Amino acid sequence: LYDVFSGFCRAEQILQDEANLLAYSYDNSRISFKPQIVLLPETEEEIVKTVLACKNSKIPLTVRGRGTATTGAALPTEGGVVLSTERFNKVIDFCPASKYIVVEPGITNQHLQDICKEQNLFWGPNPSSMGFSSVGGNLACNSAGSRSLKYGAARDKTLAVRFVTGEGKIITSGKAVSKQAVGFDFARLIIGSEGMLGIILNATLKLDFLPEQTTTIRVIYKDTRSAGDAIISIMQQTLIPTSLEFLDRHSVALIRDDVDLPPGDEILMLIIEVDGDAAAIKHAIDQVNKAARNSGLLEFMVADSKPAKQKIWQARKALSPKLRKIAPKKINEDVVVPIDKLATLLVGLDRLRAKYAINIVNFGHAGNGNIHVNLLVDPDDEKRVARAAKCLDEIFKLVLKLGGSISGEHGIGLVKRDFLPLELGDNNLELMRKVKSQFDPDNILNPGKLLA
Ligand SMILES: Cc1cc2nc3c(=O)[nH]c(=O)nc-3n(C[C@H](O)[C@H](O)[C@H](O)COP(=O)(O)OP(=O)(O)OC[C@H]3O[C@@H](n4cnc5c(N)ncnc54)[C@H](O)[C@@H]3O)c2cc1C
Repeated sequence: LYDVFSGFCRAEQILQDEANLLAYSYDNSRISFKPQIVLLPETEEEIVKTVLACKNSKIPLTVRGRGTATTGAALPTEGGVVLSTERFNKVIDFCPASKYIVVEPGITNQHLQDICKEQNLFWGPNPSSMGFSSVGGNLACNSAGSRSLKYGAARDKTLAVRFVTGEGKIITSGKAVSKQAVGFDFARLIIGSEGMLGIILNATLKLDFLPEQTTTIRVIYKDTRSAGDAIISIMQQTLIPTSLEFLDRHSVALIRDDVDLPPGDEILMLIIEVDGDAAAIKHAIDQVNKAARNSGLLEFMVADSKPAKQKIWQARKALSPKLRKIAPKKINEDVVVPIDKLATLLVGLDRLRAKYAINIVNFGHAGNGNIHVNLLVDPDDEKRVARAAKCLDEIFKLVLKLGGSISGEHGIGLVKRDFLPLELGDNNLELMRKVKSQFDPDNILNPGKLLA
């Protein structure tokens, strides 16, 4: 394929050696599909020419940010080209006065935040992978993070997207304005489309002022129902916390040695963060304190120092790596339900844990009703894997019965593709296929994802 691209890419932007093909064959799903060639474009022109070359020669083209997706979304399942945006990462425009920044997609989330911080601003979405993941990947997956409860997911915090379709046409949708009522909103469609409708060339991101202060509160409950009731009460206050995270009793057991906790095998934890100026923080703590109180409350602790705050968040952030140590190939889902159904979901998950004899550990963004359900299975244990597959099917059916969705932030990619019909139904899928064929009639862009 070298000759197809060498006319407009320099030799060092084209990778074909085995080691590189292997490196770009993975994402965080740990599944591997080797591309035939990897391109590292640096300009919009090179990307558009790549799309046109792939279209003309019918070569599959998978765009890749930093490969942190957990779903296989960035894998070249049909070979062809992996187009990595890692060198397409400049800031095009930064306007603190109107609180927006225009960036190319290959910039990492953390680098973007560092630039914004110089002007006392930040971009809302803060996935835990922010140190590595690209803004393009964040947009393509509609990623979110712990503070998305108050500051939104990628779709909520984007004003405009410029992208190239599978036919090589450049389209800009949206403007750097806070209101607009002109035409179809393709920007919102491209966000979350997992690289299947177009390649994002740049995005205009909506920024917020950094809060003056933040405070973290740790609350411990004796059982699931009381924690669930507290989540509903907290979310019924006028004040929206920055974060409202939940750790079930199995998660708490894993971090017990890192934080001082009251005794008991059944206890659950909420981590709540509030922000604002000193008066707003005081008011917020009072509101949360009132709302969090119920008969199952065991402890309400405001972390009054930076180290105390860090200790709580470090323990929360250590959970995923700890689970990976126990089960390197664990199944990690990110289901979401309306928050009034959260306790019912958690009780249901405990029932399925017992029914299928599978270690299931749950934690996540409770304020959004978004829970990371981790099934700790060893892929070499065939019996357990078969049980996990049945268990997962029941988990998704339970989530849908409760009015929820099978993914709150990780997306569908390859690994959840077969479950999509469960949630969306025939008419929805048919319309999605028609939309795909309008944006990408030759089906070159990230084929095989989302839609079977
Ligand atoms: C440790 C860890 C923690 C994580 N925590 C979170 C979290 O808190 N919240 C969360 O939401 N997710 C989280 N994730 C998932 C993942 O980091 C996000 O989905 C992230 O946004 C992916 O970014 P990426 O640059 O790695 O994209 P990739 O994995 O490279 O690609 C993801 C998808 O985006 C598409 N894409 C990439 N760039 C473009 C572009 N320019 N145009 C069009 N499509 C494009 C790809 O084709 C693919 O479909 C986590 C992952 C890990 C490994």
